Amino acid sequence: MNIHEYQAKEVLKGYGVRIQEGIVAETPEAAHEAAVKLKEQTGTSWFVIKAQIHAGGRGKGKVNETGSNGVVLAKKLEDVAEKAKNILGGTLVTHQTGPEGKVVNKVLIAEDVYYPGASEPKEYYLSILLDRATGSNVIMASTEGGMDIEEVAENSPEKIMKEWIDPKVGLQPFQARKVAFGLGLSGNAHKEMVKFITALYNAYEGTDSSQFEINPVLKTSDDKILAVDAKVNIDDNALYRQKELAALRDVAEEDPLEVEAGESGLNYVKLDGNVGCMVNGAGLAMATMDMIKLVGGEPANFLDVGGGANATTVEAGFRIILQDPNVKAILINVFGGIVRCDRIASGVVEAYKTIGDIRVPIIVRLQGTNAAEGAKIIDDSGLKVFSAITLKEAADKVQAVLEA
Ligand code: GDP
Ligand code: MN
Repeated sequence: MNIHEYQAKEVLKGYGVRIQEGIVAETPEAAHEAAVKLKEQTGTSWFVIKAQIHAGGRGKGKVNETGSNGVVLAKKLEDVAEKAKNILGGTLVTHQTGPEGKVVNKVLIAEDVYYPGASEPKEYYLSILLDRATGSNVIMASTEGGMDIEEVAENSPEKIMKEWIDPKVGLQPFQARKVAFGLGLSGNAHKEMVKFITALYNAYEGTDSSQFEINPVLKTSDDKILAVDAKVNIDDNALYRQKELAALRDVAEEDPLEVEAGESGLNYVKLDGNVGCMVNGAGLAMATMDMIKLVGGEPANFLDVGGGANATTVEAGFRIILQDPNVKAILINVFGGIVRCDRIASGVVEAYKTIGDIRVPIIVRLQGTNAAEGAKIIDDSGLKVFSAITLKEAADKVQAVLEA
């Protein structure tokens, strides 16, 4: 689960990670008030207005309606409301959102931390993530902060340092010092970076996260180390014990069909093809998608209705698939193990009648307990539903429908 930058920064702060302070706002007026408050709290007189969406690249991204960037600087308190207005409610397109962009509902009003001083402010890159290959956590660090890390990895991989951490013993002090040295830091900045990395690792563990990306981490002109940006990804499997974090979920940032499917207990992933599929079991779903491709179709989705498929789940699955305008045919492939095929067949017919006005042909392949009875129910229904016994037969019917 992803959370917004403003939420992530609050969570990090709770673990002692120094952050660029800010206050979130949903209207231009609230943005102005946030700036006033921030000035009182931090003494800052420059402000950064940052679009809050679940995607990066905001600084270079553009708001369709106004041409504003997703991260802008205001050097006057009086400018904050106007600059926030140019972002709020607009559609921000960045290299991570895709061309359709994302609507911005909130902005973070943050203190300017790039103020001049004894030294130049310097941006670094830090991330912590799960390395499945070694069964450990890995800290990735680079002096090339603020840039797209994929680009750095492509053009100058030697500038990315990696430090693996055994989760059984946790981050050792020498490892935090090693990373700070690797970033070329000395003196007070070095000490601050060690503190920063240590607190960040504690936060990573404490929140059951699978990925943290802080880009940039900033060394201010007076040698403070702080998080200017924060991308936090929490492991979904831990949300049952991370109730406070689970409450930070923003469904407005997620695909609405995937949200609806989740509420019905369905495992749905939207894809770009033209054949909707509804299957029980992830392995069978993968095989079904292969079969669709084999006959020249493209799966419109992955949908696993789970082991206990019944009329209600079938109907929920139907409704979700039918909302996708690209769908030209639906292939239902269910193995009747615990559930009987005749029950599923009745469920399909029932759901079909309840929803009504289904314009795409449906091919149902039922195999297992009472398969023949199930096929008969489908064939006798008088609906635009076709039965099949083998997966190949089902796929051929899909092909015939696509070519018709
Ligand atoms: P992203 O583009 O979505 O990754 O958003 P970031 O939070 O990383 O911000 C993008 C860029 O905005 C940073 O790399 C900085 O160059 C700039 N920025 C962020 N905060 C400040 C600030 O306090 N002062 C100034 N001058 N620039 C900032
Ligand atoms: Mn960033």
